[in-house]
This record gives sequence, C-alpha cells and structure tokens, in this order.
Amino acid sequence: MAEATSDTDTDVDAAAELADWVDDNWDPDLTLGEWWQLLADSGYAHPSLPENAGGKGWSHGDAVRAMRVLAERNVVGPPPGLGTMLAAPTIAAHGSQEQIDRYVPEILNGRKAWCQLFSEPVAGSDLAGLQTRAVRDGDEWIVSGQKVWTSQGHYADLGLLVARTDPELPKHQGMSYFAFDMDQPGVDVRPLKEMTGRTFFSEVFMDGARVSDDAMIGARGDGWRVANTTLAVERASIGAGSVGFAVAAPGQKANQFGRRVGDIVEAAAKRKVGGHAPGVGMKLYGRWTELARSLGRTDDPVLRQEIMELYSMLQVNRWNLQRARDKNQRTGGEPNIAKLFDGEIHRRFRDLSLRIVQADGMLAGASSATDPAIAEFVLHAQGPAIYGGTDQIQRNIIGERVLGLPREPGPPRDTPFSELPKNV
Ligand SMILES: Cc1cc2nc3c(=O)[nH]c(=O)nc-3n(C[C@H](O)[C@H](O)[C@H](O)COP(=O)(O)OP(=O)(O)OC[C@H]3O[C@@H](n4cnc5c(N)ncnc54)[C@H](O)[C@@H]3O)c2cc1C
Repeated sequence: MAEATSDTDTDVDAAAELADWVDDNWDPDLTLGEWWQLLADSGYAHPSLPENAGGKGWSHGDAVRAMRVLAERNVVGPPPGLGTMLAAPTIAAHGSQEQIDRYVPEILNGRKAWCQLFSEPVAGSDLAGLQTRAVRDGDEWIVSGQKVWTSQGHYADLGLLVARTDPELPKHQGMSYFAFDMDQPGVDVRPLKEMTGRTFFSEVFMDGARVSDDAMIGARGDGWRVANTTLAVERASIGAGSVGFAVAAPGQKANQFGRRVGDIVEAAAKRKVGGHAPGVGMKLYGRWTELARSLGRTDDPVLRQEIMELYSMLQVNRWNLQRARDKNQRTGGEPNIAKLFDGEIHRRFRDLSLRIVQADGMLAGASSATDPAIAEFVLHAQGPAIYGGTDQIQRNIIGERVLGLPREPGPPRDTPFSELPKNV
C-alpha cells in the first residue's frame, strides 16, 4: 500500500462527516469544474491522501466508506482515472513538497488527466526489463522508446513514466521515474481498438521527447522503488472494486468542466450499456441473480451451485480486504491476493452470466430477454487478470516476497543491464 495512506482506521465518522458536507454543498446546477474544485478544496476528493497533499489523512477503509456516501446521495464523484488512482498517491509518497504542490491539486480538481507509461512490447511481466531510455541533457532528460497498453493515453495530459537512466547499472537500479508531459513534439500517441469495440488504451512512441530534471519523482535510480508503490496502489485499488457514483472524464482533452453536474447524474442513471462494463460486486451479483430468476433458471442445481460459489468468493474477498486494513494481521501479500481475487471474480461473473442467458450472450446491445451489459462484460472480463500484473506474476510475488520461496532462475542480480540478453 502507498506510504502516503495511513493503515489503521482513524477516529472519525467519515461517512457522517461527508454526508453533512454533501448536504451543505451539492447543487445540481454547479458546473463539473466548480463541483470538482469544491471537492478538492474540502479534502474529500481523495481523503486518504495526507493533508500536505490535499487529503485528510484518513485510512483507506474510512475513505471507501465515505465514497459510498457520494453514491448513496446520487452526486458526481471526484475525478476518476489514473491521476487519482495512481499518480496522486505515488507523488504524495515519493515527491518533494514542491512536486506535490505542482501536480496533485490539478489531479484532485480534475484539470489534468494522467496515464501510466510502464509496459513496453518486451517488458510487461518483466517490467524491470524496460528499454525506454532517458539521457541527461543539461537540466533535462531526452526520452526515446515505446510504451504499449497505455490506458487512457489518448486523453492524458501527463504520464507516469519509468525510463532507464543508467544502463550500466543492474536492471533494477538503473531506472528513474518522471512526471512526463504528453503534449510535446516527439510524442506520438496511437489509440488501439479493443475487441469490445472501444478504444481504452494506446501505444505511445517517444523520440527525442523531453522531461525536466525537476520532474523526476524520487532520486535518480530509484524508479523501481517508486514504480512498486504505484503497482501496490494499483493492485489494492483494483482488488477493492469500484464505488458506483456518476463520473465524468477529467483532463483538458475531455474538457467536460462546463457540464452541469445534475445532467451528468441523469445521464449516468439512463446509461445501461455502452462505454463501461459494470463493476463487479454485490450489486452486479444481485442484478445477475435477479436475471436468472426472471428467466426461470434458478431451478437448475448446477447454476444454483455456481451462484453460491460466486457469493462465497465475494464474501471471502470482502473479509480479505478488511484484513488488509488491519495492520496487525497483514502478511504483505494482500494487494496481490486482492488482485488475484478480482481476476477470478471477473471470470466467474462472465461464466455465470453466459450460463444464465445462454445463446443470447452472443448478442451485443439491447435484447428484451437479457441484460444488455452482458456482451460488453464478457468481452471485457479477460482484462482484469492481465492488467496491473498477470495472475502468474501475483503468484510469483507472493511466493518469493511473502512465502520466501527461491527466486526464479536467472542471471545474477548485479549484472549490468547492458550485458543482459534481450528479446530485441
Ligand atoms: C486492459 C489493460 C489495460 C492496461 N493498462 C496499462 C497501462 O495503463 N499502463 C501500462 O503500463 N500497462 C498497462 N497494461 C499492461 C499490463 O500491465 C501488461 O499487459 C501485463 O503486465 C502483462 O504483460 P504482457 O502483456 O507484456 O505479457 P507477458 O509479460 O508477455 O506475459 C505473457 C504470459 O506469460 C506469463 N508470464 C510472463 N512472465 C512470467 C513468469 N516470470 N512466470 C510465470 N508466468 C509468466 C504471463 O502471466 C502471461 O500469461 C494493461 C493491460 C490491459 C490488458
């Protein structure tokens, strides 16, 4: 978990405090820009951040409980996306106060959208094998290389970039971490179309792009440690699921700041399909089981068994997350376990939904007999077991770092990166 967030529940009734604040401040006639600014100024946009980074220093558990209030009150949530999820906690944990003041406020008020420039064509699971180079040039670094799978890269104003700054050092020691400007000469963002029909991620080519030395987060050569904070936050966030409040896209390219927030809430209520696969959790479980009942499938004993197995997994996941919040019971592998659960729960929801609707699952779009979200969900469900590190990588981490099993065989860890065999 990020060093920036506290571990134990704080002595506040977070939900009640936020509910009072929403009652005093929510107005459907505000623009999105005004509402997000209010949330940011109050500390409620990301309350688990420390106070010096615009948060309230609440525990993750308090923050999640508080966010549910926004869904229950049916108001627009704080800016979503990788800025809030990854960039803010990472910069709060490793950035200087000057960097925190430079970057975090515009994440919290949604003015800047971020992406994660980690994976490369030959460095996904083996992230530490990344080959994008950053070469020092006075007060700047010149960046060349290719990233891929960059979620929301085509909407992002800034990216969390990990690049190799010292190829003569061992693999894990020669990387540095930057806040990278996406809108500059030498950066070519090419959107990729997924099998869902949507464009969620891009490939990003950098050729002579520039980043200032004062945009380096953490010290030179500390990129692996900083990236691991981002990955831990990512895994824990993915495993914790999502809170279903109305959202709008952040950043200059989406430019939704002038929209009336009341209209955003109405549009979210009407939207049944398109743009988003539903989040997994008890709400979706209720929706799927209701569908099974309405189609007369609940007499099937095999289906009933599968429904109960899914219910059990959701409960076990919930308890695991609760344990993860209890500092005294942690093993260190909780973000990885939560991530593994998330992938498995997606697969179970996928299989269950297809068993419920049978051949109708092949139809995209509205069908009176089935839930129109199913086709989209089924196509999306492969992703969660891959992004944020595949299932196999989570198991490797648990094996090596938590259980103390022997490391995978490979060259000695002090071999200079330049001397390691490469795929390209
Ligand atoms: C929807 C989606 C969004 C994504 N968004 C982003 C993003 O915003 N930014 C970003 O940087 N990346 C992103 N990714 C990339 C993601 O992190 C990588 O796809 C993932 O880490 C796997 O890397 P790879 O695709 O290169 O597969 P590979 O590393 O080539 O792996 C291929 C297979 O080999 C297995 N494997 C590899 N190494 C080992 C090993 N040592 N032990 C056992 N099995 C192994 C893997 O588990 C996998 O099954 C996204 C991916 C998806 C699907």
